[in-house]
Amino acid sequence: MKINIIGSGSIGSGVMSASYLIDDHILVDVPNGVIKYLKHLNYDILHIDTILITHLHGDHFFDLPFLMLGKYFNHDKTLMKVICPYGTVRKLKYLFRLGFPYDFRKVMNSINIEFIEHKSRSHTQLGEYLIESRNVKHGKIKPAFGYVVHKEGKKVGFSGDSKYCPSIDKIVEDSDVSILDMSLKAEGNNSHMGYLDIKDICNKYKEKTIIASHMHNSAREVALNNPISNLIIPSENYEINL
Ligand SMILES: [Zn+2]
Repeated sequence: MKINIIGSGSIGSGVMSASYLIDDHILVDVPNGVIKYLKHLNYDILHIDTILITHLHGDHFFDLPFLMLGKYFNHDKTLMKVICPYGTVRKLKYLFRLGFPYDFRKVMNSINIEFIEHKSRSHTQLGEYLIESRNVKHGKIKPAFGYVVHKEGKKVGFSGDSKYCPSIDKIVEDSDVSILDMSLKAEGNNSHMGYLDIKDICNKYKEKTIIASHMHNSAREVALNNPISNLIIPSENYEINL
């Protein structure tokens, strides 16, 4: 399994917002601007056939209309499955109404897209991938999901945005590599983890590889200046193979 860290920044940082590509065709989160950024990195966005959305904050799903329009303009009829929180389609319609009035139906009728909305923990088998979602805790946003993606006995975990909670431990325990929210430079809060949470997790699970993401610039700086042996602070489009 190949994982590319397309973005590992928070909204305010100069780095693309948290988004990941598995084997060049499964996109985890669709932050504002990521579709153009993927093109800038020379990816063919028409290869994307599966999307996992962690939660419905703009920096995690606002570029979904642009991906759909990309498929529409290219007359691409390949089936794209979107595993997403309950309420995604309603919000997506609203985004289209704001940005591209009258186009939602037209686009939906022309492309081949299937939304798999869910409220709580689920398992979805898609070809050789098993995709598990786990409820995490992200302030008032409900539901908010982390994911564990299995392929050929290897597992990669994603926390999505979350404070440190038992689900995070479970994602790390169950995965070979985990990509975790490390928004903050010290302690976490009710919505996000901080460097000190991640340091505790790295010490607790010394044999696991952790990749930090969703970082404010200050969190990235603290982590780069205080390295932890099993923690990776990804550079642009960092790639890891399992
Ligand atoms: Zn969020």
